[in-house]
This record gives sequence, structure tokens and C-alpha cells, in this order.
Amino acid sequence: MAHSVVPEAEAILDAEYPVLDHGFVRLLDYLGSDDRIVEAARVSFGSGTKSYRQDRGLIHYLLRNDHTSPFEQVNLTFHLKMPIFVARQWIRHRTARLNEISGRYSVMRDEFYLPVDQHISLQSEDNKQGRSDEPAGPELQRRVHEMLESEQKRNYETYSELIDMGIARELARIDLPLSLYTEFYWQIDLHNLFHFLKLRLDAHAQYEIRAFAETIFEIATKVCPIACEAFEEHVTDSIRLSQSERAALARLLRGEPEGLKGKALERFRNKLNLGHE
Ligand SMILES: Cc1cc2nc3c(=O)[nH]c(=O)nc-3n(C[C@H](O)[C@H](O)[C@H](O)COP(=O)(O)OP(=O)(O)OC[C@H]3O[C@@H](n4cnc5c(N)ncnc54)[C@H](O)[C@@H]3O)c2cc1C
Repeated sequence: MAHSVVPEAEAILDAEYPVLDHGFVRLLDYLGSDDRIVEAARVSFGSGTKSYRQDRGLIHYLLRNDHTSPFEQVNLTFHLKMPIFVARQWIRHRTARLNEISGRYSVMRDEFYLPVDQHISLQSEDNKQGRSDEPAGPELQRRVHEMLESEQKRNYETYSELIDMGIARELARIDLPLSLYTEFYWQIDLHNLFHFLKLRLDAHAQYEIRAFAETIFEIATKVCPIACEAFEEHVTDSIRLSQSERAALARLLRGEPEGLKGKALERFRNKLNLGHE
């Protein structure tokens, strides 16, 4: 088949999926879908189109066995709007093509991210990179909200004043905070998108980037439903066991104690959703 047209994807082209307070994800374009992955894989075997069941089985087989190149035949282009601190994490993913709005050419808009109360939490005690699962109390949340909002307002006033004084836009912007929204076009193939999603859908990723990753995944599912189903089956909802964890699991299956202690035991039980003893 020359050109993949997926009705579910066509229906959402250009539609804005809101994320956080001012952000969005829009699918601008896509190239290929599940059928392209299958065709690309079958071109190597020289065999033609098979039934839906066989195609689905093939996609699961490819993903399960790290046959990654057929997934690279599918490309998605997004228009994204997100706070700069999220964009800084985003651009660490080097295997995409990106064009961002320039604060040297354009006057930046007065749009800043303000977390909702539920997401204002204290520093986590056991995760140096993360926030606690418990929201801070309402009084503290209100105070944080006020502090962030008044700083954002002040920063933008200074920026506007510098612009009005005729100062170059590239200089006027230098004190704008990381909560300011930016926009970019982002194009990535499905293999690398899955790598991005594996990292950024994970519970260890910051809530704000996770919110965008979840929306991206929802959109990707419209373009490649079978590949996304296989990704959930073999990647996000699967676990990787170390050598000693595999041995511990074998002991458990034989009805013996795991033979792990302390943090190693805790990690193992968490991976298997066994909870604490
Ligand atoms: C929860 C979390 C916490 C993080 N914390 C930090 C932090 O504290 N500090 C920090 O600096 N970063 C941090 N990062 C960023 C992280 O280290 C990676 O830079 C980011 O996740 C991108 O991953 P990647 O390089 O695999 O992805 P991509 O850049 O998309 O690359 C995909 C894959 O391509 C290959 N590849 C790409 N470019 C090259 C290359 N030049 N040479 C060799 N192989 C290449 C690698 O196999 C790579 O895995 C964090 C990421 C996560 C998810």
C-alpha cells in the first residue's frame, strides 16, 4: 500500500489536546501506521499481506524481540506548547527533529505555568528527584500559588518594560522564568517515540512531562493502535528482572523464600506488585 490513511488519525489532525493550564499537543501529520510496520517487516521476508490476526502477531513479535527498524518507518509530527522547564527535559531526547519559537524574533506571550493545588507537594524524602505523593496542606499551597504568580507577573512587567524601552528582544527575555510557555514542532519516528514514552510515562518522570507523554501516547494510539497495544504489553506494563531477581523468582515459584534482603527485596516485591510483608 502506497500511502497509509487512518480514519481515527485523520479525525484528530490539528485538534488541540489541552495539557496543564495553557499547554497543548496537536498532531500535525503522520506517515505510515500499523500496516507500514508490517509491510516493512515483510519486505525482508518477501511475503505479502496476511490477515489482521497475523499482522497483529507480527507487530507483537517485532516489539517483543527488539526488531526496531520497521517501527522507524512510521513518523509523527506534533505541535507542542509546554513550559520551558518541561521543554528542557524534552529536548534531551536527541533522536527527534525540532523547531522552536524564537524569543529573539518574537515577543514572548504572557503565559506561565501555575501548578494546581493537588500538584503542589513537599520534597519527597525517599526520592531526591521527586515530590512527595501527599499534597502540601491548603495553606501552604495557597502561599506557593501566590508567590509563583506574583513573581511571574513581576518578571513579565520587567520584560514588557524592556521591550517598550526598545531593548533587543534577545536581551529583554533573559530574566523570564522556566514556567514561561514555549512552542515547537517535533517530528519523531515511532521507535524513538516509544523510547521517549518508556522514559517519560514512567512514574519516576516529573508529573508535568508525564502529562504531555500521556497525551502523546493517546494520539499515537489513533495512528498505530496495534503497535501501541504491543508497546503497553511488552514495554510499559512489563518488568525487567536482574540476575539475582530472576533467581529469587525461581525460588518463590519452588515455594522457597526469595533470599533477598533490605532494598533489594523491596525493589523485587515492588516490581512484582507483591507489596510489603
Ligand atoms: C526520570 C529521569 C530523570 C533524569 N534525570 C536527569 C538528570 O538528573 N540529569 C540529566 O542530565 N539528565 C537526566 N535525565 C535525562 C536522561 O539522562 C536522558 O538524557 C534522556 O532521558 C534522554 O534519553 P536518551 O539519551 O536515551 O534518548 P535519546 O536522546 O532520544 O536517544 C535514544 C537512544 O539513542 C542512542 N543515542 C542517541 N544519541 C546518541 C549518541 N550521541 N551516542 C550514543 N548513543 C546515542 C542511545 O541509545 C539512546 O538511548 C533524566 C531522564 C529521566 C527519564
